[in-house]
Formats: sequence, structure tokens, C-alpha cells
Amino acid sequence: MKKQTRKQKRKQKQKILIKKSIRIIILILAIIVIYNIVKGISQENEDEELIQAFAQNSKILETVEKSQFAKVSRYIVYGTHFNIEGSINLPEDTVPIQNVEVIAKNISGEEIVIDSEYTYNNNMVEFTTLDKINTGLNLETLQETDYYILLKISYSNEEEKYYSLENDTEYGEIDYYTLTRNNSNNKIYINFSKAQDIPFLGFNVTKSKLPENVYDIVIDPGHGGNDGGAVSGNHIEADIVLDCALDLKEKLEDIGLKVLVTRDGTESKEEYTANNMYDEDGRVTLANKSGAKLLISLHLNSNEAKLSVGGTEVYAPTNSNLDFAKTLATNIVNTANTNYSQMETYKEADGVYVREIDISKRAGSVAYNSSSYKGIFDSIPYLYIIRETGGIATGAYVDGSTPGYSENKYRNSNVGVESYLIELGYMNVRSDLNNILRNSDLYVEAIANSVNEFYGIK
Ligand SMILES: [Zn+2]
Repeated sequence: MKKQTRKQKRKQKQKILIKKSIRIIILILAIIVIYNIVKGISQENEDEELIQAFAQNSKILETVEKSQFAKVSRYIVYGTHFNIEGSINLPEDTVPIQNVEVIAKNISGEEIVIDSEYTYNNNMVEFTTLDKINTGLNLETLQETDYYILLKISYSNEEEKYYSLENDTEYGEIDYYTLTRNNSNNKIYINFSKAQDIPFLGFNVTKSKLPENVYDIVIDPGHGGNDGGAVSGNHIEADIVLDCALDLKEKLEDIGLKVLVTRDGTESKEEYTANNMYDEDGRVTLANKSGAKLLISLHLNSNEAKLSVGGTEVYAPTNSNLDFAKTLATNIVNTANTNYSQMETYKEADGVYVREIDISKRAGSVAYNSSSYKGIFDSIPYLYIIRETGGIATGAYVDGSTPGYSENKYRNSNVGVESYLIELGYMNVRSDLNNILRNSDLYVEAIANSVNEFYGIK
């Protein structure tokens, strides 16, 4: 009997415990549900407030033409820069045009002129700021206020008219986060909206923190897994550049940047291959979804017809301003006591190379299906890490039709990462390899300093 009572007691205790547990679980679930409802409401309010803010800043919209708007056929963010293209149809009796400018006007009325070109034929003005993909409006320089992107036309009768912009693209809003400086970022909300029946393109700039999934910069150690890259004796490219990449990550974090590496050495020797770059954890996909502004890919060269002195090669995107590539090359050569590569093919400046794809050769190739390529320029980068991380700015085009390669889901994106590939030196040139093995910290320091100086981080 005593035993049974004990059992009963135990059962009773268990019942109570289960009841208590259920109550706690229900309470937690209720809290989660309420939290999400409140969060949803506050998010809605935030968006509503933003649109209200734009509408209240109607001072700017009062100065634009009320019945005519320019149509935007393309707008992109590549790296830290914004670019735009479009057109406007003017009435037949329009007086001659003297000048057309694309401007960013803030609510105090201050104007930033964005470098642009235009043509004027049959009353149609076509404009573009896309001389280079990494010039245009530098988003890092915007103040914490609201801006409107406008077309400003000066006529021969000294009249100036402002035209607002209407979205004629398949693209929607963009959230851009500036690079982290002093532990702080600006969020730039780029969106097309409408107020007082006037469509407009507005930028709302506010102080912010980087969301969890947004990074400043991506470091991509080449190869990895079952792909060792170049080999010299028992030295393997993939291992050397991984060490450099992890050091570089640390150095960049020291100056306050948020850094993503595309692999950290824990990747599987069996499953991580040269072909998996477009998979969920592949380097192209990781870079594309990182929200980063800049990517640096590290490699070591190996050439059958080796150049006796070896040296550094920095590969830059096609159609780009090469200032950052030049900064990288110069700093590496000076800091790591190496030399610019002697290779002449694709060379644009000392140590700076731009290699473009030969579409005609690629057309019949099984490796890629070039019919899906959708670039904004005819010349697109040859190196996949530069091309496939830049979206439409660099003509990313791998669409999954190629055996062995999955699709680049970001190939039609109007937001791209500005990517550079550095061949630190030649593995098959003894002096070069020795310098890299002994002084890798100097190469890393040179790259970190380049980022710091060029982007004004600290
Ligand atoms: Zn390589």
C-alpha cells in the first residue's frame, strides 16, 4: 500500500509538473505572438512615417514641373555609388536646351551635381550618369536628411526647370547601409514614391546600425575544399591565401569594419568544390547576399611561362574607375617589398589589370550560356568573382543552365558588390613565394591600409 501511495504521489507530482510546463509554454507562445504583432505595427509605422516625411518635404516638389516627369529606365547601386539612366520627352515647342544635369537636392535646397551625359534628339532628352560603374553619386557622402534625385534642364532663355523621376524599371526600393565608421552607419532608403500626384525618387538618410545579415566587406580566400589551386612543392595556394584572408579579416575588424569571409577552412574537402560557388554557402551567393560594398579575393599566380621576377597583379572590374586598384597595387609593392608583375596582357597601369570576357568565344562554349547575359556595358569582366557579384553592373549571367553550376540568383540584381581579385605573387617564382611565406603580414597590412585610406574608415 505504502508503495502504491508513493507511486500515486509521484504520478500526481508529474501531472502538476506537466500542467505547469504547458502553462509556461502557452505563456511563452503568447509573448512571441504579441511581440511580433507589436513589431509589425511599429515597422508599418516606420514606413508610414518615412513616406509622410517625404510628403511633408513638399518644398522641393513644389519647385518641379507638375505635368512632366522623366522616366528612369535603369538605376543601380554598385559598391558605394549610385547611378541612373533615363529619358524625358519635351513638348514640340520647347526652346533650345543649353544644359542637362542630374542632381541630388536635399530639403534645404542644396544641390549635388552627379556627373552625367545627355543627348537631345526630336524633343527627347536621354541622360546617364553611367560613365563608370563605380563613379556617380557617392552614397557614403550623403548627409542625414532627405534628398530628391531630379533632372535639371537649363534653356536658352535662361529658364531652369526641374523634373522629378518616375520609375520605369522592374526594380523596387533599396536599403543601402554605409560603411561602418566609428561604430556607426547611415541607412539610405532609396525609393520611388508619389506625393501631390508627383512621382519622385527619394533618398531618406538616417543614422542606423548594420542589421545582423549586412556586412561592410567580404574577403574571399580563393579555392578551398577539394580545390587547392596552384601548388609549389608542398605549398598550396588555397592554404596560404586562407591564412592571409583570416589575418586581413582581423586587421579590418581592428579598424571597426564588419567582415565576412567566404570560407574559413572548415569547409568540407569532399563537398566544397570549384563548382559550388552559386550554392547557398558558395562564395558568389555569400557575397551577393552580404549587403557588403566591397569584396577582395586573394589568390596566388602560377604561370607555365613564368615571368622571372613574379610580382603582384590586381584585377579590377571592366568599365570602372581604377583608383582603388592602383592604391592596392602601389601599397602592396611598397609595403611588402615586392614588384609590379611584368605581365603586359590586360595591363592598365602598374600592377593593375582589367580582363574582359570575349563574348564571341563564349557563345559556343559549354561552360556558360551567354544568351542570358544582361549587362549594361558590352564589355564584362572575365573573372567570375568580379562579374557574378556585381549583378547587372558587371553583366553577371550564370543562369543555372550550365551542367555542374547552379544559378546565380542575384544575376539580375541592381545592387552589386564592387569586387577586386589580387594575385599576390607567383608561386612558381621562388623569390616571390619566399617573400609571401615570410612576409604575408606585410601584404595583409598593405591591403588593410588601402581600404582604410581609400574609404576613409578611421
Ligand atoms: Zn587562384
